[in-house]
Amino acid sequence: MAENVPEKASDFIREIIIGDLGTGKYGSRVHTRFPPEPNGYLHIGHAKSICLNFGIAEEFKGLCNLRFDDTNPIKEEVEYVESIREDVRWLGFDWGDRLFYASDYFEQLYQYAVQLIRKGKAYVCDLTAEEIREYRGTLTEPGKESPYRNRSVEENLDLLERMRKGEFPDGSRTLKAKIDMASGNMNMRDPVMYRILHIEHHRTGDKWCIYPMYDWAHGQCDSIEGITHSVCTLEFEDHRPLYDWFLDELNAYHPQQIEFARLNLSYTVLSKRKLIQLVREGHVRGWDDPRMPTLSGVRRRGYTPEAIRNFCDRIGVAKRDSVVDIALLEHCVREDLNKRAPRVMAVLRPLRVVITNYPEDSEEELDAVNNPEDPSMGTRKVPFSKVIYIEQDDFREKPPKDFFRLAPGREVRLRYAYFITCVGYVKNAVTGEVVELQCVYDPATRGGDAPDGRKVKATLHWVSAPHALRAEVRLYDHLFVKADPADVGEGEDFKSSLNPNSLETLTSCCIEPGVKEAAPGSRYQFERQGYFCVDPDSSGERLVFNRTVTLKDTWAKIEKSRKK
Ligand code: ATP
Ligand code: MG
Repeated sequence: MAENVPEKASDFIREIIIGDLGTGKYGSRVHTRFPPEPNGYLHIGHAKSICLNFGIAEEFKGLCNLRFDDTNPIKEEVEYVESIREDVRWLGFDWGDRLFYASDYFEQLYQYAVQLIRKGKAYVCDLTAEEIREYRGTLTEPGKESPYRNRSVEENLDLLERMRKGEFPDGSRTLKAKIDMASGNMNMRDPVMYRILHIEHHRTGDKWCIYPMYDWAHGQCDSIEGITHSVCTLEFEDHRPLYDWFLDELNAYHPQQIEFARLNLSYTVLSKRKLIQLVREGHVRGWDDPRMPTLSGVRRRGYTPEAIRNFCDRIGVAKRDSVVDIALLEHCVREDLNKRAPRVMAVLRPLRVVITNYPEDSEEELDAVNNPEDPSMGTRKVPFSKVIYIEQDDFREKPPKDFFRLAPGREVRLRYAYFITCVGYVKNAVTGEVVELQCVYDPATRGGDAPDGRKVKATLHWVSAPHALRAEVRLYDHLFVKADPADVGEGEDFKSSLNPNSLETLTSCCIEPGVKEAAPGSRYQFERQGYFCVDPDSSGERLVFNRTVTLKDTWAKIEKSRKK
């Protein structure tokens, strides 16, 4: 066996490849491709396919092409092409000089079609779309042969050429493969190869007015590029006989198509058709809305490419469809950010605290650890003064039994600072809301420990009021309230499971001043709250943060209960 073969296959696709390398089916070559249609932005499901195709190429020291499957000019746009290139690169993959478009091969595909006509394996059909559907039959009934099926080779060649020249209106004619109208596989019942569409294409302009169907284009593109293993999702399993038929009839180089189960994730949808609706109908702010499962959405939200790649590794590759718990994705993000995100203190819902025995007009700087997981990230100085903010949630006027945070008469620790005890509080006379606390601090506890060894049960984060940076923080929850968004009542569609509370915007958050210069995309852990990322909406005047993920690890809980 060649030296580029890993010893053990981690899934059935790699097993097939190792087998082929063993028999020398494609020599010692491994060449895959990722073939997106530029009709929307890429989502996490595509990431699975990208990691698989590019990952296999890396592991087997082979190559992976990026190929745009741009055969349908109705839905395709340059904006999508650009976003897809950016997203693949962001994930950390490189197609080198192998960026291709199916439209690069339109002429070659046309010549292939001529070849099939000459062989008596393709014909021009004048049935309307409606009639074609009727003639196709059903799963239980065979189809009927088109009355145009036995046109002569000469007539077919002439008509195809005139279709190409633009002599016929949209929908008036098609080119079809001549296979078997009685086949048990509907895809083999004389499938359409070309349709007439007088529409400009984003790359070929008005050069063409006939466009190849996916099934006619895909295998031939794989063949032209010398792909060895054409990996796609399970819904193409029934198309494989057609993939093989075309290549065999053309006597062309023949890659192997292999199908795997697509990724489904709970509490979201992974379908461009559905995502496009959310964008167009304004249910989200755009393709890169941080609630979207698109790669541009999760990037804006603060997910790292490493976390997504790790997630794709962990879910593996299978032959049966399943739904992956979104908690696993969040777990992977949390795990990665835990290692790399510097800690800072931020108060999301501020409650003012006056430390009555702290000297007026005085301030000091305290040492704080940047990342307890990584000492090399060092320490920083955090300013402290007489007036600080803590989280409203961290105080209760009448604390329940299990509440150990601040309450009247109770002492707690301020992280990296002092012990404080609540000695009084002010309420809004109208609303009854607590608006300010008075506390006293113990100067001997500087840094966070009492020399007399007395303990407190809670440690709170805080921000010094005069030094605080004001920020907007956007808290995100799942986009859908149902694990399976399609699980809706009759007459309703997936959009009726949208979560009306998927975005909560907090506008008076306070953050320690050290993050002032943070560039969009910078990620932090806000102590005790979660991971947050600077949004591109930020300006020098005002930072905007997205909550990437909370600290609460529901996946760890799921795993624990599974072990039990
Ligand atoms: P969608 O269903 O979102 O419209 P698609 O299959 O039409 O997706 P393509 O642009 O054709 O989108 O997809 C490019 C590649 O990504 C294909 O090989 C496809 O099989 C794969 N892919 C798409 N969705 C998923 C998914 N959820 N999981 C794994 N692979 C996927
Ligand atoms: Mg597709």
